[in-house]
Amino acid sequence: MFTPTRLAALEALTDFVPRAGSQYARARNVDMGPGRDNVSSLSPYIRHRLLTEREVVAAVLEQHRLSSCEKFVQEVMWRTYWKGWLEQNPEVWMRYRRDVDELVQSGETESAAYRDAVTGHSGIDAMDAWALELVGTGYLHNHTRMWFASIWIFTLGLPWQLGADFFYRHLLDGDAASNTLSWRWVAGLQTVGKTYLASQSNISRYTDGRFSPEGLATTARALVEDPLPARSALAPPEASPSGRRRGLILHEEDLDWPSLLAEHPLAGTSGQGPVPVPVAFAGFARADDRSPLGASEVVREFTRSALVDGVGRAQPPVPREQPRVLADTFASTVLEWAASEKVDSIVMPFAPVGPVRERIDSLRAVVASEGLMLTMLQRRWDTLAWPHASRGFFPFREQIPKLLAQQGL
Ligand SMILES: Cc1cc2nc3c(=O)[nH]c(=O)nc-3n(C[C@H](O)[C@H](O)[C@H](O)COP(=O)(O)OP(=O)(O)OC[C@H]3O[C@@H](n4cnc5c(N)ncnc54)[C@H](O)[C@@H]3O)c2cc1C
Repeated sequence: MFTPTRLAALEALTDFVPRAGSQYARARNVDMGPGRDNVSSLSPYIRHRLLTEREVVAAVLEQHRLSSCEKFVQEVMWRTYWKGWLEQNPEVWMRYRRDVDELVQSGETESAAYRDAVTGHSGIDAMDAWALELVGTGYLHNHTRMWFASIWIFTLGLPWQLGADFFYRHLLDGDAASNTLSWRWVAGLQTVGKTYLASQSNISRYTDGRFSPEGLATTARALVEDPLPARSALAPPEASPSGRRRGLILHEEDLDWPSLLAEHPLAGTSGQGPVPVPVAFAGFARADDRSPLGASEVVREFTRSALVDGVGRAQPPVPREQPRVLADTFASTVLEWAASEKVDSIVMPFAPVGPVRERIDSLRAVVASEGLMLTMLQRRWDTLAWPHASRGFFPFREQIPKLLAQQGL
């Protein structure tokens, strides 16, 4: 269903844009199953920035007035909102990681109820079909994700963190912020006390009768947690790196180096005059970092191929070498690579809160001790929007017209 290249992503975008207006707003909640065209199915591309949020919104606004494609634009902005919110509340991510570790270690993922739910044997036909669709395709429709999460938590009584982990391991668009915070929202933790309850009639209506599951929970009492610490301040964007030989390491959070470079022009020279900027290119992908149980093969393969595509497009065309993918013992591999390429500073796209950032945070100290600089370049899209993601989505939504104008859209 999803080819992990920017070319395929651009084709999918072109195909979808005519449907992004009132047609999308009217029909987006319906899930007719695989082959659906009422939603964009662009999320695996947007998640890895094989397509940027800015270019998706720009393409849609070229064919529709904002008033008719507002719903679609708002959905794209949900992603930006979740990422900005988690960036300011990293404790939520740390607790989630700790909880999943503890649940796995304590054997919860060996329980019959858990095994049945993830292998399509829960006895609820809709859940079983959705579990198999997720595992088989790496994708689920948004409404289905909401129903699935609600039934998982309130009917099956399973820990929300393990449901989030199941999604995260299998979704091609699996994202630390959108996934964790959406599960928390269903559970009544994100908008404190407000849960999402899936009902037979709603599922039947929006699947056009494909599913009409009986025996679902009729109440959904919000889960509770220890109070969260005060919001953290957003780190100011880092300045473009100095250094004569900069090495670029792309990672799965942002695979469109040409558009990021356009925002952060880097000048470079060597003894022989101007040099391509940067001078060395590599990529880092370890989808298994998503969970103590690793990622699915479908996710691993998609992520790795998307990375190879991203690094291939970042490199100058001549000589075109095989893109270099760094893996496993990240810090030592990076140091080896930096030494072999004689780079004096490392540039990366900004990695928001999540597994890639965890890797980069631990890498920072190691490269600094070797006298190397490491800089993460942030996109203007995030820099402008994230400060508004400090409260709920509705105040954030009010900022959308201003944010689009600041982006020249
Ligand atoms: C429990 C649960 C878990 C989720 N996990 C993820 C996840 O790991 N990664 C992820 O990208 N989305 C996640 N979502 C949000 C949403 O379901 C998907 O982004 C959407 O279904 C992707 O399909 P699409 O590209 O056809 O979306 P469209 O409806 O065509 O929307 C266009 C784009 O907007 C963004 N978007 C749409 N809805 C949302 C939303 N509610 N939250 C954040 N961004 C949104 C996506 O980038 C999407 O590609 C989750 C939602 C729920 C309820």
